[in-house]
Amino acid sequence: MWKNVRIGVLLLVLALVAGQQWLDRVATQSWHHPLWVGIFPVSADDSAKTRDYVEGLTQKDFADIEAFFTREARRYDLAVTQPVHVELYPAGRALPPQLPADAGFLGRAWWSLKLRFFAARHTSFPGRAPATVRLFVLFHDPADIERVPDSHGLQKGLVGLVHAFADPALAGSNNLVIAHELLHTVGASDKYDPATGNPLDPIGLGDPGQRPLYPQQDTEIMAGRRALSPAESEMPRSLRHVVVGPATALEIRWSRP
Ligand SMILES: [Zn+2]
Repeated sequence: MWKNVRIGVLLLVLALVAGQQWLDRVATQSWHHPLWVGIFPVSADDSAKTRDYVEGLTQKDFADIEAFFTREARRYDLAVTQPVHVELYPAGRALPPQLPADAGFLGRAWWSLKLRFFAARHTSFPGRAPATVRLFVLFHDPADIERVPDSHGLQKGLVGLVHAFADPALAGSNNLVIAHELLHTVGASDKYDPATGNPLDPIGLGDPGQRPLYPQQDTEIMAGRRALSPAESEMPRSLRHVVVGPATALEIRWSRP
């Protein structure tokens, strides 16, 4: 009897989780009105430069991201003219849980649960509309760190953790990483070779029809880098020459098969 009750409760929880994920997918892939994306900035270190940079952030610093989605949506004839609204929320003090570099499958699953729990407690502010997608952006002083840890965007839970540099000269590439992780939360997959970091041919190229093929003029957002040759690539400094390629558009339902 009790065994059946326990199994029943477990099945109910699983059904609720699956139902929530289905609702999230419908909410983020319908593209009838702007997707509300919250940026939750956090200082990742004790540097005064980082603190000043985070305190000085304004909505305008993320305007590139909205403009990128508006421009690309037009190319796909999306019904909504502005598919993404980016909202800057007050800086947080608590550091979101970090994914250990050597985490296995279970480690990742546990971290994703912790991040979702953290997001549930640190993203509501009185008088502010709640964000549908919640992105924690951790700013690092470039003097302390040469390379930031990997960023992550999760479709389950609509939450992401982005590592960025507290430097106005790097604001454009920070926005590129934010747009990339945001697209993961709405169902896009990576389009680069994990071993080399180079864009996959053809789905990771800005324009697979370009002749000559290399160097590519544009960057596919889920490749994150512009292919200079089959074996060389570079990260663009802004979203200006970055595109949503056809494979990504299919995944996020900007187009149909
Ligand atoms: Zn990615």
